[in-house]
Amino acid sequence: MTGHEQFTEDLALYALGSLEGEAAGPLEHHLEECAACRQELARLEGDMALLALTTSGPSPPQRARQRLLKAIGREPRSLRTVFMRRPWWTLAPVFASLVLAIFGILLWRENARQRDRMEALRADASRNQATVEEAKHVLALLTDPSAMHVTLVAAQSMPQPAGKAIYMARNGALVFLASNLAPLAPAKTYELWLMPMDGDKPMPAGTFKPDPRGNAMVMMPPMTVGVEARTFAVTIEPEGGSATPTMPMVLVGP
Ligand SMILES: [Zn+2]
Repeated sequence: MTGHEQFTEDLALYALGSLEGEAAGPLEHHLEECAACRQELARLEGDMALLALTTSGPSPPQRARQRLLKAIGREPRSLRTVFMRRPWWTLAPVFASLVLAIFGILLWRENARQRDRMEALRADASRNQATVEEAKHVLALLTDPSAMHVTLVAAQSMPQPAGKAIYMARNGALVFLASNLAPLAPAKTYELWLMPMDGDKPMPAGTFKPDPRGNAMVMMPPMTVGVEARTFAVTIEPEGGSATPTMPMVLVGP
């Protein structure tokens, strides 16, 4: 059993395919007699194969990686020995194998990291996509001319014109929906107005014409950001809209 320790260290190089010819002679001789070293070599070779197969796989070859890293960690001594008894040009495969093995481990780690990042991004993207899809569906329903629009009112009363403004001063986003609007005279348009909180003069918030059923919509008109609204109103204006509202108001919020 003498020299057993020394051969154990050479096994890593041998498994990496970097101990050949004369240098491998004593180890190969020892392997013929030593079942323990044969078993360790088989394990190391198995680890190499496993590592090569799993650099892009889903599960970490934890045990294999640790053993191989340990084997490579022991390398400096073996390398020095190899240096002394070999011409420099026969060392190239040793380095190539070591670099490949280490690169394989780094690559596996990077892959695992990338995979986590990709999954997080994919989850984010699909959440965003779901929100966008939902908004698209709502928008498609609101704008589809074939959609059925039913206004429910108190029984036995005629449907009255009505409007609903949805507004956010923070970013100036505005959607306005109106129903039961009377048809317009030629060269006339409805105009929506924002009545500012601070009592300033009404600000134009888009012109619109109702469809034959009296429904209309103003979506995201260009607005000054940050203007708090007291309420909204609708007037009838000449085609193209006005700078100030023409009385009377057709619709006004509370
Ligand atoms: Zn042995």
